[in-house]
Amino acid sequence: MKKYRLMVPGPTPTPPHVAAAAVLPLEDERTQAYAQVFTRVLGNLGRLLVTDNDVLLFASSMTGAFEGALQNLLSPGDGVLVASNGAFGERWVAMAEAYGLKVTAIRHEWGHPWDLERIAAAVADTPGLRVAVGVHCETSTGMVNDVRGFAAATAPLVTVVDSASGVGACELRTDPWGIDVVVGGCQKALMTPPGLAFCSISERAWALHREARLPRFYFDWTEARNFLRAEVPRTPWTPAISLINQLDVALRQIHEEGLDNVLDRHVRLGRVARAGVRGLGLRLFSPDEDRHAAVTAVELPADIDGDALVDVLVARYGVQLTGAQGPLQGKVLRLGHCGFVDAFDVLASLAAIELGLAELGYRAAPGGGVSAAMRWLHEHLLP
Ligand SMILES: *Cc1c(COP(=O)(O)O)cnc(C)c1O
Repeated sequence: MKKYRLMVPGPTPTPPHVAAAAVLPLEDERTQAYAQVFTRVLGNLGRLLVTDNDVLLFASSMTGAFEGALQNLLSPGDGVLVASNGAFGERWVAMAEAYGLKVTAIRHEWGHPWDLERIAAAVADTPGLRVAVGVHCETSTGMVNDVRGFAAATAPLVTVVDSASGVGACELRTDPWGIDVVVGGCQKALMTPPGLAFCSISERAWALHREARLPRFYFDWTEARNFLRAEVPRTPWTPAISLINQLDVALRQIHEEGLDNVLDRHVRLGRVARAGVRGLGLRLFSPDEDRHAAVTAVELPADIDGDALVDVLVARYGVQLTGAQGPLQGKVLRLGHCGFVDAFDVLASLAAIELGLAELGYRAAPGGGVSAAMRWLHEHLLP
């Protein structure tokens, strides 16, 4: 018997009640009874995002809703600024290029923070820009970007934030920070199987939407809002009923725990993970700061192949971690700790990493990672 521990930054483990909600009998979604579930989910998403704006829900992976945001905000040839410091920033660049938009990519080295002055200067100097896109938690490196500063630096533009792995794990205050559009989904800190994406839309974004001429159909925001405002609120197309039931349970669990407590738990998990990584004698790739609370990225010793380590960890110990992409491939190991995760999951991962590294020839002090993490827990958890 080998217990499988899913410790990647998405998909994440589902709590038992969320898993159980998948097998509820199907209902007709065109009923007041189902509309109650649907609108409760949207309301709870709004609370999570700290926004009074409209929230729309789509049956798709998050990239679908990202494309939808471009389709709904822009016209052919419009300018889009993308701040990129990792793989997901690059996904937005590629997507905007695929739509024939004029992309101003402000690229930074992966794992380095955004240069907000450079971004503000590009906003001022580039004619034709309508929208600025930034990734909140850049999951490819663990870096949590300053989306509040980004919204300020790009204030003349409609700001779109990809908070796929940020929302529910890292602080995000949509309205107070002046973010127009937040796009996220359910398979990271929201502890629900993949397949739902959502999008919050400010008045200013709706105004730009009314001028936008890119073709759209499935993800049409106007259509979605019309159905949301119908007598029986619903979606224009068949919703992913079972996933919405699951997300409903997950969001209620999050709000029962309390959003501040949930965010605080992620900060603590980040600290435990980083203490453990240092205790193993390894270097952190993601900075040792509280806000990088969803994913911990670890620089591996030069002679260790990250992909081989991931294979050993899952094959021998059932601990599923992940490597890294692009320039970091093979060199960085990523530990996800967002969603239904506690300190004991992190301890198990640290123990497995130590054993896996030993198998590949790197010998850390026995128990070095676990004992450093335990010291942190003693200092911070005992009364
Ligand atoms: C996980 C993640 C996504 C996921 O996109 P999918 O289309 O659902 O695969 C997008 N952006 C970021 C930053 C992510 O972490």
